[in-house]
Amino acid sequence: MIDDYRHKGLRNQLVSELIQKGIKDPKVLSAIASVPRHLFLDKAFEEWAYKDQAFPIDCGQTISQPYTVAMQTALLEITEKMRVLEIGLGSGYQASVLVEMGCKVYSIERFEHLYEKTTKRLTQIGYQQVRTFCGDGFLGLPRFAPFDRILITAAIPQVPECLFDQLKEGGILVAPVNYGLDQMMRKFIKSTSEIKQEDYGMFRFVPMLEGVVKNSIS
Ligand code: SAH
Repeated sequence: MIDDYRHKGLRNQLVSELIQKGIKDPKVLSAIASVPRHLFLDKAFEEWAYKDQAFPIDCGQTISQPYTVAMQTALLEITEKMRVLEIGLGSGYQASVLVEMGCKVYSIERFEHLYEKTTKRLTQIGYQQVRTFCGDGFLGLPRFAPFDRILITAAIPQVPECLFDQLKEGGILVAPVNYGLDQMMRKFIKSTSEIKQEDYGMFRFVPMLEGVVKNSIS
């Protein structure tokens, strides 16, 4: 697991690119500058790790584009010690960015294979604080609710009521909501009387699908 001056240099370049694209939050930028994204990709893609692009991971899924990760993280308005539920663990990169920002992160993945591989990887890289779960994100994680923030990293047709129930009052939920092929990045703010929503433009995510996918025994 090598993270040397060359990788750090590439990360600083990536951060400059994100600033040019409009990301301003210094805490988000400093987290992106810290997380070794190349260690979250399979070896074959290592050289591409600091391009602002999404990349394939196992099970036909993707590691999100850094700009998308930065945008979703900024919309969450994170402060230290927050309890954050992520739906869509994938490579574990987004979860690690949240750890760098001082969050206590819970993350759910529906593919048993990805859950196992990423849990191991997070420990190897040093982000073993992320609490990972294999399950269906449509149900959330009621056992650990309520959360200060909920982040959905797969395209969801509509946010189910049970996820809002697991959000604290004053909490924020960020999700890419289906709008055909692309999704609207939507921020939901929960108060006592209502759930306010704000839209932040179109993005493209892999779909959020129901049910757990077990490893096949072969
Ligand atoms: N946050 C990830 C991006 C992963 S892509 C990263 O930083 O790499 C979205 C992930 O959501 C995929 O791994 C996909 O398998 C997972 N997913 C899709 N539907 C889900 C569901 N119902 N519950 C949990 N995870 C789900």
